This record gives sequence, C-alpha cells and structure tokens, in this order.
Amino acid sequence: MERSKAVEEILKSMRSATAKEALGILLQGNQRFVSGQNAYPNQSLERRTQLLEGQHPFAIVLTCSDSRVPPEVIFDQGLGDIFVVRTAGNVLDEIALGSIEYAVEHLKVPLILVMGHQKCGAVSATAAGGEAPGHIASVVEKIMPAVEQARSLPGDLVTNAIDLNIKLITSELRSSEPILLEFVKSSQLEVVGSRYDLDSGLVTLI
Ligand SMILES: [Zn+2]
Repeated sequence: MERSKAVEEILKSMRSATAKEALGILLQGNQRFVSGQNAYPNQSLERRTQLLEGQHPFAIVLTCSDSRVPPEVIFDQGLGDIFVVRTAGNVLDEIALGSIEYAVEHLKVPLILVMGHQKCGAVSATAAGGEAPGHIASVVEKIMPAVEQARSLPGDLVTNAIDLNIKLITSELRSSEPILLEFVKSSQLEVVGSRYDLDSGLVTLI
C-alpha cells in the first residue's frame, strides 16, 4: 500500500512501536474498505470461541455515533480487534474517558484513534446555533469551543469545526490525568486524530 508523506511523517513521529503497528493495521484495513477489497477478518466461529478467554484489542477508536461511520466496517476489522467508544460528535465525557482509561490501563491498548467525520450532524447543529432540547445541550456544549475557534478561520465553518473538534479531543486525551498522560509520557500510548470522508470511505490522519 502506498502511504502518503503525511502518514509517513506521523508514523515516524510515534514513539511506541506497537502503536505504530496498530495504526498501520487500521490504515491497511481502511485501504481494503476504500477499494472494496474487504477481508472481513476475525469474524469466524473459531475467533468467537478464542475470545472467550479474554479480549486483547490492538486499538481504541473514539468516533461519532453516526450510523454511517461504524469503525469495524471502515477499518475492515472483526471480533476482539478494536475497542470502540462512540458518542455524538465523538465528544468526551466522564464515562467515555473512563471507558478509554480502562482499555489503556487494564487492556494495555497502545493506540487511541479519534475519528471525526465529514458532514457531522452534531457539529453542524452546534454551528447552526439555536436552542438544543434536553440532553442534546450537553453534546452541543462540548462541541462549542471547536465552533468558536473555527469562526476565525477562512473557509467553511462546519468543515473547520469538525477538524478542530478532532484536534481538541485528541489533545484533551493526551493530557488527561491521571491515567492517559502517564501512559503518553512513558511512550506506552499514542493518540492520533483522523477524519473519515463519507464520499470516498477514506480515513485521513490530521
Ligand atoms: Zn457525527
């Protein structure tokens, strides 16, 4: 698989070999998905039985609840491969963070991939403004800083806010105390941001 220069740069900057390997597996799976060459790995009865002994996922994916972005499908993975946390707008709250901490601390997963996506409804709704009813207000509140920052940038507000939201969440995870920061500091954990394009099916690291 041909990797872009940007991807090579990101991989080179990663200090954990296992995280690098994990990102490589995800990107290869995404290439298969993009080109319609899915391998559908680890979905057999044997795999299901093996996993009764426990799970050893190689990556954590934090992504949006949007029905168009299922990470197992997008990365062509199977049972026991990726530890997934999904919320509208891929925002973090205490429960999402606790779930990620569990996977890092207990399951020793070396990579967190934050994956936002093109045309994210949660980001669009936040950018549009207006009253958010019920608990939707909590989601809007979490996305608001990205939208506010995006207002000063040239170009499309929603597109810029989607990328900024991914970047803010990525740095929030990297510096999250007490667990994630420690794992990052000791080179046992990498946190990478990415965006999924609905048109092409491609995941781009950002
Ligand atoms: Zn979304």
